[in-house]
Amino acid sequence: MNTLAPRPSILSVEPYVGGSSKLPGVNRVIKLSSNEGAFGPPPGAITAMERAARDAHRYPDGGATALREAIGARFGLDPARIVCGNGSDDLLTLLILAYGGEGTEIIMSAHGFLMYDIAGRWAGCRVIKVPERELVADVSAMLGAVGARTKMVFLANPNNPTGSILPQSEVDRLRAGLRDDIMLVLDSAYAEYVDMPGYDAGAALVDAAGNTVMTRTFSKIYGLGGMRVGWCYAPPAVVDVLGRIRGPFNVNLLAMEGAIAALAEPGWIEKNIAHNTEWRGRVTSALTAAGIKVWPSEGNFILADFATAAAAQAADAHLKSRGLIVRAMGAYGLPACLRITIGTAEENGLLTEALAGFMAEHRG
Ligand SMILES: *Cc1c(COP(=O)(O)O)cnc(C)c1O
Repeated sequence: MNTLAPRPSILSVEPYVGGSSKLPGVNRVIKLSSNEGAFGPPPGAITAMERAARDAHRYPDGGATALREAIGARFGLDPARIVCGNGSDDLLTLLILAYGGEGTEIIMSAHGFLMYDIAGRWAGCRVIKVPERELVADVSAMLGAVGARTKMVFLANPNNPTGSILPQSEVDRLRAGLRDDIMLVLDSAYAEYVDMPGYDAGAALVDAAGNTVMTRTFSKIYGLGGMRVGWCYAPPAVVDVLGRIRGPFNVNLLAMEGAIAALAEPGWIEKNIAHNTEWRGRVTSALTAAGIKVWPSEGNFILADFATAAAAQAADAHLKSRGLIVRAMGAYGLPACLRITIGTAEENGLLTEALAGFMAEHRG
């Protein structure tokens, strides 16, 4: 008998499990598991999406022209070199389908963003995960992993879930050390939150050569994760390729209007950055004082290290019993850690109190 089967690489994929949002028997759930913004969607975006709902019978502009122009104006980039997608996951996947595939290799750091691994397997690539140094991508080791079949290298900077960042000199060294026929994808989902001086989200390297792509998202600081909008800034030849393989309407009407309004929201970015910088510091200090190791983070989340998987699981259970949902890190190969999104002042207070209580119990 013949059995229907997908391409073999598909069955090597563990389905992506997002941060959970429900706890049985708990009325008020505080979700700090998906790095969503602390303040909900920008008010102007809500209004724009409500208005756009009246036109929901119309197909959206397949070229996302107004959105690309708004992004271009906001970030000082040529709209002709911007491609929008159904979340940046959409664009990462399309890039891998177009430039990877069976017989090719892609390179990422050991605890890099999981979507590179997942989409790489979809495409049939061999995914090489390169060991890090203290949870920071190791450029020399990544360059050392390059082979004749290498087609793409992925770097989230800052990285999710570690929160770590490479200085610009290291990102430049990575690009300089790669062959010209290897694409470097700089995933800058958390660019706005970065404190490190001299940081560039990637546009400079994209401009410098024809083989680097920067991806960005509206899911984090712009508070529109549920709408699924991302974009990339790419060389003209890559824009052309993406234009051939993307879905013709891969950003929906409400998402497009919401994102345009989010870009125009007065003071939104400043408010979110100030809040995140303050609370990332305060949560880090509080957890450190409670005896928990916190890895340095340049994102809107922190990685708390409980030293053993058993302790991390117990801490997770303790938080859940109080309605607090954070992200377990087993799927990322960091079972002793929990990733915790920076929330509102109240949420952060409840989180740090609960973990201080957990540590006190654990010690005693
Ligand atoms: C959240 C995140 C994304 C964004 O994904 P969207 O599909 O745009 O929601 C991309 N890369 C990293 C590293 C992320 O953490």
